[in-house]
Amino acid sequence: MRGHAQQEHGQGDHHGHAHDHHGHDGAGCGGGHEAGDVIERAERVCQARGLQFTRLRRDVLAAVAAEHRPLGAYDIAERMSAPGRRVAAVSVYRALDFLTEQGLVHRISSRNAFVSCGHEHGAGAGLVFLICRTCGGIGEMTAPAVESALDQTLAAAGFTPTSRILEVEGECGTCRERGDLPEEPHRP
Ligand SMILES: [Zn+2]
Ligand SMILES: [Zn+2]
Repeated sequence: MRGHAQQEHGQGDHHGHAHDHHGHDGAGCGGGHEAGDVIERAERVCQARGLQFTRLRRDVLAAVAAEHRPLGAYDIAERMSAPGRRVAAVSVYRALDFLTEQGLVHRISSRNAFVSCGHEHGAGAGLVFLICRTCGGIGEMTAPAVESALDQTLAAAGFTPTSRILEVEGECGTCRERGDLPEEPHRP
C-alpha cells in the first residue's frame, strides 16, 4: 500500500487553474474540460470511429479526468481498485494506449503520467504542456507559432517527428500570485 492518497492534499479546487488560461486567441483549446464532458466526448469519438468504449477504458479515462494533474498508471489502477476488485496496472496501460492513440488522453513524458484531453484539436496538433512544479497542475495549449517554427527547424534538419509535444516546467500564475508557499502536505 503506497501513500498515493496524499495527492489529495491541496487547497480546494484551485488545481484546475492552468486550464483557465486556455482562452488565449488561437489557442484552439476551447470547450469544457470537466470529467463529464471528457467522457461524453470520448463516447462520441469512439462511436464515430466504430471503436469500443469499454467499461475499463471509460473508468480509466474518468480517473484521469477527475484529476487536474498528471496521473501515473499505478495511481490509476489504485484508484480504480476496490475491495474485491483489483485492477491490474497492465490493464490500465492497455486502456491508456488506446486512449492516447485516440487523443483522449496525453502522455506527459517527463512525468510518465497521463492527463485527459477535452479539447478539439486535431491529432497532428503541436501541443504545449505547462507543468507547474509547485502545485503539479498542468495546462494544455496549442501554439501555432511555435509549431510552424518547429516544423521549419525540423525540416531544415531533415528530421521527421513522430510527436511534437512540448513540456514546459515552471510556476503557474496562481502559484506565483499565492507567493512562495509550497504545497507540501503538512501532516501533523
Ligand atoms: Zn489535447
Ligand atoms: Zn501552480
